[in-house]
Amino acid sequence: MAKSINPANGETIADYPEHSNADIEQALASADDAFRSWRRTRFAERTALLLRAADLLDERRDRLAEIATREMGKRLAEARAEVEKCAAGCRFYAENAEKFLADEVREGPAGRNFVAYRPLGPVLAVMPWNFPFWQVFRFAAPAIMAGNVGLLKHASNVSHCALEIEKIFTDAGAPHGVFQTLIIPSSKVETIIDDARVKAATLTGSEPAGRAVAAQAGRQLKPVVLELGGSDPFIVMPSADLAKAAEVGVKARMQNNGQSCIAAKRFIVHADVYDDYLERFRTRVDAMTVGDPMSDKTDMGPLATSKIRDELAEQISKSVAMGARLVSGGSVVEGKGNFYQPTIIADIPAEAPAYREELFGPCAIFFKVDSIDAAIDLANDSDFGLGSSAWTNEPAEQERFARELEAGGTYINRMTASDQRLPFGGIKNSGFGRELSHEGIREFVNVKTVTID
Ligand code: NAP
Repeated sequence: MAKSINPANGETIADYPEHSNADIEQALASADDAFRSWRRTRFAERTALLLRAADLLDERRDRLAEIATREMGKRLAEARAEVEKCAAGCRFYAENAEKFLADEVREGPAGRNFVAYRPLGPVLAVMPWNFPFWQVFRFAAPAIMAGNVGLLKHASNVSHCALEIEKIFTDAGAPHGVFQTLIIPSSKVETIIDDARVKAATLTGSEPAGRAVAAQAGRQLKPVVLELGGSDPFIVMPSADLAKAAEVGVKARMQNNGQSCIAAKRFIVHADVYDDYLERFRTRVDAMTVGDPMSDKTDMGPLATSKIRDELAEQISKSVAMGARLVSGGSVVEGKGNFYQPTIIADIPAEAPAYREELFGPCAIFFKVDSIDAAIDLANDSDFGLGSSAWTNEPAEQERFARELEAGGTYINRMTASDQRLPFGGIKNSGFGRELSHEGIREFVNVKTVTID
């Protein structure tokens, strides 16, 4: 059984029966079957499917948002915005996929030479609960537009979301097998990757899960895209607009109850503005209301599971025991639900868990630096390399951050956020491969050379 538990009160919402081995076999056969015809459809047909899916997302927005909030605790307003983003992602690929995958005529040895982007086949997507709709649609929309078919193994705590996603594709008219949800534990992933009918895999999730799936895909010589964890720097230099950097910094750290891969996690602040910036940040954090994620008066809901809350509490208490300074928060909220106070810690020793590990919850960590070189060195002293944000109005500093921060993206005077028009992904232990934009849709295609005399 896959159990859905409401993280705001600890009550079981539902138990979802897992698919059996026979069900998995049936799904693989359907995917294989569906691919044989889906790959031959015209773009117009795929576009029509995704536009219908987008309309259904819009129509069902409020209900889908409530399902996500109940299953994983994100604030309802954020859940609604997530569903809207999925609709926008579907429309983006509906409108642009044909252009992204158009044949490219090249110079070559034959009379006619071109590159064709052909689909690979069924792709397995292993997905996390933190953006339970968006993570799936940002994979599914380009994959389906490219002529592939999708198999979803969603996180075990968001099975209702997973089934609703399948229903959107079915109700939008997708032929059977084009998109299927499997309710299975992670231990079943390997047998699916091993199956010859599955041609590629993508995983969004933690580093250990990424390593496991990459190893399995590697053994089978199958391509894989990995979107893993991060510990993104948020750098504030003296020329920055401090008021805006504080407002956006708190949002970048605390949105989604602090559980975003691209959350600003390490605040690296120049000594000249450190005290001022920290005070502005602290004032905002202390004013946050923790509580029911269904209420629009709430700024911070619960963590998705009690395990995540307990792991965060331990990382913070260990770091403080090792010498980090607690500036704000730092405690579990007593009572029902997996609530943790919005927290700030500073002066983190290099050996403390908060220095090197990802903190997947509402805790900002602060560092003081006295130069741009020190800021860049500290930012790059991480095993992760997902996003990065730097706040400065000095053009020369902007240029250095843009070129020298080791990350999949650098956002100057903005928070790190994915946008379907731009590629998204990481380097180092944050994974490899890209999603979104034309880079994303070209991950799961055969870049095929054709020469014709
Ligand atoms: P997780 O525990 O790694 O789970 C993610 C998915 O992987 C779930 O479907 C999970 O299934 C599955 N899984 C776990 N271990 C596996 C294994 N050994 N083999 C195959 N599948 C496995 O991660 P999470 O706690 O849900 O998500 C938080 C992490 O995801 C954070 O590190 C966050 O930074 C990262 N993340 C990254 C991005 C990005 O775009 N880079 C986006 C969002 C989140 P079960 O639920 O059944 O265990």
